[in-house]
Amino acid sequence: MKKQTKLIRIQTEKTQFREHSTPLYLTSSFCFEDAQMGKDLFDNTLEGNIYSRFSNPTVQEFVDKVCMLEDADEGIATATGMAAVFAGFVANLVSGDHIVSSKALFGSAHQIITQILPNWGITHTYIDASAPKEEWEKAIQPNTKMIYLETPSNPGLELVDMEMVGELAKNHNLIYFVDNCFATPMLQTPSEYGANLIVHSATKFFDGQGRVLGGIIVGTKALIEKVRFFCRQTGPSLAPFNAWVLTKGLETLGLRLDRHCENALKLAKALEGVKGVKKVNYPFLPSHPQYELAKKQMTAGGALVTFELEGGFERVVKFTKLLKIASLTSNLGDSRTTVTNPDTTTHAKVSKEDKAKLGIFEGSMRVSVGLEDIEDLIEDFTQAIEGSN
Ligand SMILES: *Cc1c(COP(=O)(O)O)cnc(C)c1O
Repeated sequence: MKKQTKLIRIQTEKTQFREHSTPLYLTSSFCFEDAQMGKDLFDNTLEGNIYSRFSNPTVQEFVDKVCMLEDADEGIATATGMAAVFAGFVANLVSGDHIVSSKALFGSAHQIITQILPNWGITHTYIDASAPKEEWEKAIQPNTKMIYLETPSNPGLELVDMEMVGELAKNHNLIYFVDNCFATPMLQTPSEYGANLIVHSATKFFDGQGRVLGGIIVGTKALIEKVRFFCRQTGPSLAPFNAWVLTKGLETLGLRLDRHCENALKLAKALEGVKGVKKVNYPFLPSHPQYELAKKQMTAGGALVTFELEGGFERVVKFTKLLKIASLTSNLGDSRTTVTNPDTTTHAKVSKEDKAKLGIFEGSMRVSVGLEDIEDLIEDFTQAIEGSN
């Protein structure tokens, strides 16, 4: 069966009630038939649910679907995307280890790497996403354990060549950890290039309608076993209700992504011609500096478009006041188009110097293009940009 069919059809085993839609197992614990069963479950001679901090059938259905999409052996769902990122680091690294990471990262991932991991003696080297192979290789030290990256990056939409990094990771025997949130497995599968840990903020496109928080980390059996131990003891578990929303959300992921990408490309093209726009960034625009790489490793450009308005923050405020349809909120991956100014919101804590390196300026706007009619969206953005000139 093709992935889309499996995505629709993977479901927890039917109960005696013969339900059609997937049930929600809203229970904190599971019963033992007798004391022997309890003993066997706890000493792992019997596989089964014990307590929803460890496992839950609704959560497992969500995990099974994402493992299938990412061609991964196993996975762990978490309460948020950041819990999954953090678990991926701390379950697999020890004091003295070193991470090589692309510089253009989600704000909280940057904070973990620069402010939290150093407290436990885990160090890092940042590399520009688009740096050539030699530079990535030069950053690898004898104590390097992991390469971490996001592609496309937030909000600069810079790409990392996943095949090139995959070769380095293989040659140096490193854990290859990818945040695949922006592209989703519908547009690219990092495991094809050897990634052995893949993380998602399920809050974004997996939900797709801005309702619940969630995260997931999938990968090879050996690495996920360590993450499982860490999560089982420390408890960042995904709530069954959220898992139920997410597993239903995944059924329409492909359909939604098709429209997200179609709308995003049309909006990006339209914005390139509007007066007052300095620059438009979208991986599938021929003007993107890594257009060829985008075509090679992605099947479409994604839902995110960033553009830079001429003028400073005052202009940004004026523009946002004039938007009639797009919502002003820092979330993304929603059926509704959302707009944010990364300089003052998601990346406010990053230094001005680093922001410039990440392509974040006062006038930068990040748009998560939604599922509204594209003609209405183009009209909304055009009138707000022109009106704020
Ligand atoms: C949102 C996001 C995260 C964090 O996910 P949460 O669910 O908000 O914790 C991590 N990486 C990327 C690329 C994101 O967009």
